[in-house]
Amino acid sequence: MEKMNWRRFIVQLLPPQSCALCSATAGNNVCDACCADLPWLEQDRLCPVCASLSPAGLVCGDCLKTPPAFYRTLSLLEYRFPVSQLVSRLKYRQHLPLANWFAEQFLLRMPPAGEKIDALIPVPLHPNRLKERGFNQSQLISRQLAKRLGTAHLPQLVERSFDTSQQAGLSRTERQRNMRNVFTCRENMSGLRLAIVDDVITTGSTADSLSRTLLDAGAAAVEVWSIARTH
Ligand SMILES: [Zn+2]
Ligand SMILES: [Zn+2]
Repeated sequence: MEKMNWRRFIVQLLPPQSCALCSATAGNNVCDACCADLPWLEQDRLCPVCASLSPAGLVCGDCLKTPPAFYRTLSLLEYRFPVSQLVSRLKYRQHLPLANWFAEQFLLRMPPAGEKIDALIPVPLHPNRLKERGFNQSQLISRQLAKRLGTAHLPQLVERSFDTSQQAGLSRTERQRNMRNVFTCRENMSGLRLAIVDDVITTGSTADSLSRTLLDAGAAAVEVWSIARTH
């Protein structure tokens, strides 16, 4: 009798995985063709501090003029179609395998950290938002990252005390003032090097506000890890 290929046998028993973008049968959450077409960001063409576009990879004018509280940002993908589709699938449908996939891609493609990170902190959602959605998509990703890196995961230490989604109609100055008191941290973060994990970064003001809160709580340094960034 021919020797049974157990691995193949078991794989055949599992339902074939389909690509989250084109539905083709894939060995992963996103098939090779769709994966190759995604707008992966080249870190040496971004501002190292805020990950905005900077052709020579120099610190951008905004960061020179008003340095944010975090010292660097790593961002994996440009936030546009079809990345937006992947993110909303995770955000509104709690597609857990995608959180794993994002974490896996992040660790595969990002430059190794210069200095050891002591803990990962997902950007918290406001309790109203959390109640509505039932989960925090950034936390799904940060949990996977922490697990793979063997780093501490601290999703409960910071609270979002102000709902920034209620800012429509406010002036820029009013919004900026509100951003200052969005987060509260009651723990002592003394001496810790932290990485904030966010799914999508737009202006960076949320990450800046959270970083300030963490530095005020004693953190030694804060950097930002995001899956996607708008440009
Ligand atoms: Zn595909
Ligand atoms: Zn910058």
